[in-house]
Amino acid sequence: MYEVIVIGGGVSGQTAALYATIKKMSVVLLTKKLGEHLRESIGILNYPGMLEIDGLTLSTRMKEQLRSNNVTVLEEEEINRIVRIEGGFRVYSENNAYDGATVIIATGASPYKLGVPGEDRLLAKGITYRGISDAPLFQDKDIAIIGEGSTALEAAQSARKIARNIFIMSREKGFNAPDHLIEKTLTYPNIKVITEVEILEIHGNEHVERVGYKRLGGIHQLPVNGVIIERGHKPHTDFLRGFLELDDAGHVVIDYKTKTSVEGVYAAGDCTCVRDYQYAIAAGHGCTALLKASRYLAGRKTLKDI
Ligand SMILES: Cc1cc2nc3c(=O)[nH]c(=O)nc-3n(C[C@H](O)[C@H](O)[C@H](O)COP(=O)(O)OP(=O)(O)OC[C@H]3O[C@@H](n4cnc5c(N)ncnc54)[C@H](O)[C@@H]3O)c2cc1C
Repeated sequence: MYEVIVIGGGVSGQTAALYATIKKMSVVLLTKKLGEHLRESIGILNYPGMLEIDGLTLSTRMKEQLRSNNVTVLEEEEINRIVRIEGGFRVYSENNAYDGATVIIATGASPYKLGVPGEDRLLAKGITYRGISDAPLFQDKDIAIIGEGSTALEAAQSARKIARNIFIMSREKGFNAPDHLIEKTLTYPNIKVITEVEILEIHGNEHVERVGYKRLGGIHQLPVNGVIIERGHKPHTDFLRGFLELDDAGHVVIDYKTKTSVEGVYAAGDCTCVRDYQYAIAAGHGCTALLKASRYLAGRKTLKDI
């Protein structure tokens, strides 16, 4: 039985696994893909200690760090079930099962897509799903922010001192956000709102050039250099339903110590109810989760119950 099983190989899971070796705990990291989202990030401007780094380079460095610390990493292991067993938990993938005294869930989340032509092709060529961290990429540009919730408005506020003109495109008549946030966002002169839109296509050859949309029966084109899509995120937690507490949107409910509703199980990063999607937060969570798991195990060992 491993002392800790980490599920998910993003920044949060990799940090947890790294700290397990520092704590001299036996650990296995099980993941679909190692550093999946990291490799998609073009320019990371907000990771401590790095003026700017691309996701692939950071991913390669983290992988190297795991290797030099002899962490067992098993890729292509998609976990689909967890059950309690005596002394811990059994974690199942399609073909294998692993036993751990503690489990750290770090399976991340994926942004909801618009599903329109141009969206996949122009990803990282002017399109991003991360308004708050990617806003610096839009210096003096005209941009569209597509979304109707608080994160769309917050992204607009983050970008307002960077971008030239910001157009928030909402499919609703207004926004699903607190009144004070809406009112404050709309006070900035370079933020404009286009409501009741249906996005049809994002156009551009090598880079975003314009957004095609339908409004009140007419077809329109909005010339922009960038598009931030803020339609929320789907956490990768379906396999946890019935095992531990999830919130309405499917995020793992944790407390400030990263503890879940099941003793001995911790969660970290984008899959949690914290809902702030940042590498620095994921790393911090991964570290906290491992330290709490280690302390929990130390307590149990004292009680001779594993
Ligand atoms: C395009 C893009 C750009 C971004 N840019 C920035 C930025 O500049 N700065 C910043 O701070 N943040 C940025 N982010 C946000 C950042 O990527 C996330 O906050 C961070 O990746 C969260 O890390 P995580 O470890 O929680 O989850 P993830 O990175 O999503 O990792 C989850 C891991 O779990 C694995 N997994 C999922 N389900 C299972 C399962 N059932 N079994 C096993 N493994 C599973 C996946 O393969 C993946 O390896 C960006 C995100 C994207 C998509």
